[in-house]
Amino acid sequence: MSTPITIHETIASRVLTGRGAVDHVPEEVERLRAGRVLLVATPSAKATADRVAHALGARLAARFDRPAAHTPVAVTDEAMTVVEAAAADCVVAIGGGSAIGLAKAVSARTGMPQIAVPTTYAGSEVTPVLGETEDGVKTTRRDPALMPGTVVYDPDLTLTLPPGLTRTSAVNALAHAVEALWSPTASPITDALATEAVDGILSALPAVLDNPGDPEARGRLQTAAWLAGICLAQARMGLHHQLAHVLGGAFDLPHAELHTLLLAHIMAFNRPAAPEAFARMTRAIGGDPVAAVSELARAYGGKTTLADLGVPADELRTIAERVAAAPYPNPRPLTVDDVAALLDDAWHGRIPG
Ligand code: NAD
Repeated sequence: MSTPITIHETIASRVLTGRGAVDHVPEEVERLRAGRVLLVATPSAKATADRVAHALGARLAARFDRPAAHTPVAVTDEAMTVVEAAAADCVVAIGGGSAIGLAKAVSARTGMPQIAVPTTYAGSEVTPVLGETEDGVKTTRRDPALMPGTVVYDPDLTLTLPPGLTRTSAVNALAHAVEALWSPTASPITDALATEAVDGILSALPAVLDNPGDPEARGRLQTAAWLAGICLAQARMGLHHQLAHVLGGAFDLPHAELHTLLLAHIMAFNRPAAPEAFARMTRAIGGDPVAAVSELARAYGGKTTLADLGVPADELRTIAERVAAAPYPNPRPLTVDDVAALLDDAWHGRIPG
């Protein structure tokens, strides 16, 4: 009898890490032999973007400061008019997953090289994945050409992340590692990265929340989130990410908050079907994984239920039907009733554990 074959594939990317790394962006542009940069940045990253723009000097061709969550195609169309008018040949994105998603979408249409400078823990910068939204439906595609060739992790850029977003973005990263551990495409590499990411995120996050201005703790959290992002890139995700995509796309929900309120529910649901993943997480955390994640969700001061986020209760069944009709690979098989029950708990805020 043949055993299943595990395939591990690495997509090349160049990653700079460390305080002040963002000051190396002009050299990285030079390295790409690019001379007309489109600088994409969210308003939260304006001060950094101004600094990078100044350092780029004549190599700055244009700026675009209106990226939106879930990469709406209409926003990409708008950015493309700027790209064309400026004859840009490279895109630098500074911000969270929204800025990086827009850079990926622009690169997908033009073939331009990308430099990603993340300021959250979402992990998009190390994935060959792009989720785009049109007419309330989020479609995700995977192509090695989508992955930024250069990533710049500067922990100083995360110092301004407010505590709430720090918590939810870190749980977003944690979700990549958790789902990698029970993924059918897990490999020894993703297992190792995911275990280290779970440990790193859950040990660095309390230190960061205690002292959000501590660059050393921020650096540890950012590094753990990087590892989690690689898990997202390399292992296929399950029910948790499917629910986040379907709900996020349908109701335009805040990505990290949504991940935070869902994760413990999916972990509790999958626990009976993923003993090895839970054994690894338990060893890494030194305690019960569902309880640890539930605790993080409960302590969040923002919106903690699907009801709070404005998801209509009478839409939950339709969402459950969509998810169960074409499920992402998940360790525990699911029915419409299972997903509807889980969503009902998340809607009411009945956090497990
Ligand atoms: P985001 O980029 O939308 O940022 C959330 C908010 O935080 C914004 O208001 C932003 O301005 C602010 N912000 C970001 N960094 C900040 C900082 N350092 N200080 C203060 N404020 C800051 O949110 P996100 O969670 O990073 O990304 C979510 C988006 O990324 C979604 O569209 C999601 O689908 C996508 N995503 C894609 C992938 C992928 O692999 N393709 C992975 C993860 C997330």
